[in-house]
Amino acid sequence: MRAIVLDEPGQPLRPAELPVPEPARGELLIRVHACGVCRTDLHVIDGEVTAGKLPVVPGHQIVGTVEGSGERVGVPWLGWTCGECAYCRSGRENLCDRARFTGCDRDGGFAEYAVADSRFCFPIPAGYPDLQAAPLLCAGLIGHRALRMTGDAGRLGLYGFGAAAHIVCQVARHERRRVFAFTRAGDDGAQRFARELGAEWTGAASDPPPEELDAAIVFAPAGELVPAALRALAKGGTVVCAGIHMSDIPSFPYADLWGERSIRSVANLTRRDGEEFLALAPRVPVRTTVATYPLERAGDALEDLRSGRVHGAAVVSVRDGSA
Ligand SMILES: [Zn+2]
Ligand SMILES: [Zn+2]
Repeated sequence: MRAIVLDEPGQPLRPAELPVPEPARGELLIRVHACGVCRTDLHVIDGEVTAGKLPVVPGHQIVGTVEGSGERVGVPWLGWTCGECAYCRSGRENLCDRARFTGCDRDGGFAEYAVADSRFCFPIPAGYPDLQAAPLLCAGLIGHRALRMTGDAGRLGLYGFGAAAHIVCQVARHERRRVFAFTRAGDDGAQRFARELGAEWTGAASDPPPEELDAAIVFAPAGELVPAALRALAKGGTVVCAGIHMSDIPSFPYADLWGERSIRSVANLTRRDGEEFLALAPRVPVRTTVATYPLERAGDALEDLRSGRVHGAAVVSVRDGSA
């Protein structure tokens, strides 16, 4: 099968011809139709997140059909958990000490076939074509978990308006929250896109919003955004850091945290997050905007993501199987 492989962190991705993987007991062999591209893939490729397997096929937002049954399924970042540790047994499998992640510790979806543990696959809502469904599986799920961590915050700041924010913005508006979107300075395209999706105000990350925020979600991997977001909060507000990796957070005066403001991270996802979000998405309805790349150009998709050239979500189209 055709696949895109990472040999070592820091090396360019390489097209490869690999044997079709053999599913072990409890695993499904999936014919990949589409696979979303995520900033976490860049962190794995750059070595900021350590791959548990090398070479590895990246990609963790897989939509495909199960060989044999033809059932359409999605494979997310959370590929396996132990089921035994204190985290797993307390509804926090996202924190499992032995968790294995798709496209990082197990081969992912930048390939014609993938295998996945059937217990960690989700049915895909019927109304979504393959390409539009793929970004729901990480941008959507992590965005959903991050949005839940903001409680009932009415005034929501989104720092970085990429794949996850473009989904969260729609859900937040559906929940009648007010959205303030922060982008790279001068990124008029991203700001227009955010307003089209319901943001009432857009600006650069260093701009003070017109009102205090009740919560902010930081999607961009830039640590300096954390104190900036903190300064934009009303008392009692929360900054949620939604990325798996971020540059160092600069120091800031304690007065900025005072007033019961808090900073927290969101790590990975639970299967329950997936079930909740995939039930919610068609009700909003969330519509994903995607930029499509053929499998051979997965590396270009990642570089476009790195440089901020993608509006919405980048998706690798592996097989035209929507029919
Ligand atoms: Zn565990
Ligand atoms: Zn991801």
